[in-house]
Amino acid sequence: MSEGKRDSSKNGCPYVKKCGGCQYDGSSYSEHLKQKKKYLDKLMKPYAQVKQLVGMEHPFHYRTKVHAVMDRNRKTGSVISGIYEQGTHRVVPIQSCMIEDEQADEIILTIRELLSSFKLKIYDEDTGYGLVRHVLIRTGYHSGQIMVVLVTASPVFPSKNNFVKALRKRHPNITTIVQNINGRGTSMVLGDKEHILYGKGYIEDTLCGCVFRISSKSFYQVNPQMTEKLYGKAIELAGLTGRETVIDAYCGIGTIGLIAADRAHSVIGAELNGSAVKDAVVNAKRNGIKNIWFEHMDAGEFMVKYANQGNFADVVFMDPPRSGSTTQFIDALAYMKPTKVVYISCNPETLVRDLEYFRKKGYQVKECWGYEMFPWTSHVESTVLLQRRGADPAH
Ligand code: SAH
Repeated sequence: MSEGKRDSSKNGCPYVKKCGGCQYDGSSYSEHLKQKKKYLDKLMKPYAQVKQLVGMEHPFHYRTKVHAVMDRNRKTGSVISGIYEQGTHRVVPIQSCMIEDEQADEIILTIRELLSSFKLKIYDEDTGYGLVRHVLIRTGYHSGQIMVVLVTASPVFPSKNNFVKALRKRHPNITTIVQNINGRGTSMVLGDKEHILYGKGYIEDTLCGCVFRISSKSFYQVNPQMTEKLYGKAIELAGLTGRETVIDAYCGIGTIGLIAADRAHSVIGAELNGSAVKDAVVNAKRNGIKNIWFEHMDAGEFMVKYANQGNFADVVFMDPPRSGSTTQFIDALAYMKPTKVVYISCNPETLVRDLEYFRKKGYQVKECWGYEMFPWTSHVESTVLLQRRGADPAH
């Protein structure tokens, strides 16, 4: 397959038939947005009218995390990089993508060239022979910092110092380069071991006025422009006055809780992923925030434990994964009687399932807003304000 050369944002995407990275179908952005809004409206109809689905002004090249699989063209032997064809392990070669950060795509093209000139072997999934498997790039939207992660099958990286030097010479704005070693035959991109080849081994970026450390493995929203808008709305919906006890459930690296902390009395975050909790603790220190704590636990179990200890909360933020929350979580939440719950969802189907249970527990939907975090894909992000029936809204 030949690689298309074009500005994908103007002329449509030449890879669309094979690549599973987005669901671009040639329609206009306003049409795409309308379809998503219709879908969200339909699901939310029994609960509330969706105020708006906030779109992106320039819905291209928004992904600050870019992943490329490295491969060889079977006929010519030249190095290619791209994304797996949907449902297969065949690589669709990609030069530039309409939703990925443009600088990241340029760096990946340079890496292809350098891999050839340094005669480094590309990993072959079938034989298990070769070195370089993937390239992952994360860019800081505000900071401009750039992290390049080279995923290799073994720790031995011939002429790595010269490789790093050559890459930095071509892209002086790269701030850190990491070698991640993944020798396993799994579909996971990253392995456990890492060597820092240049810089600090992580990037930092600002979100809603707080600085966050982003390492290769931690979860961080891929569209920071829209994340700022979404989190801004979520915190506005909570109507914090500085007196509230707040829970940030499914908190990841602590983003929402840390941003809300200066408007609350105290915040407690709960998260299952241990490295995310470590990042959250570092992020609290980095921002000088002292009224926040984190628990490394399943969010549902945390809620039960916290309620059983006789604690309470005024406001709960919850941002569960695509599978949504649990009845255990919602039962324990209702027992603590928070006045407000702000639910941030990346899957409207599980959101409405949970809203139905919230209704049974005496919580009513007050507002719903959609945010276009993933233009040209079918994903729909939204935030919902729930209020306890009979609670004084001014509280
Ligand atoms: N609020 C964060 C993360 C949201 S993504 C942010 O905006 O960056 C959802 C998070 O839920 C992930 O960090 C994931 O590790 C975590 N998670 C998944 N299942 C969980 C569970 N059962 N209990 C607690 N956290 C969980």
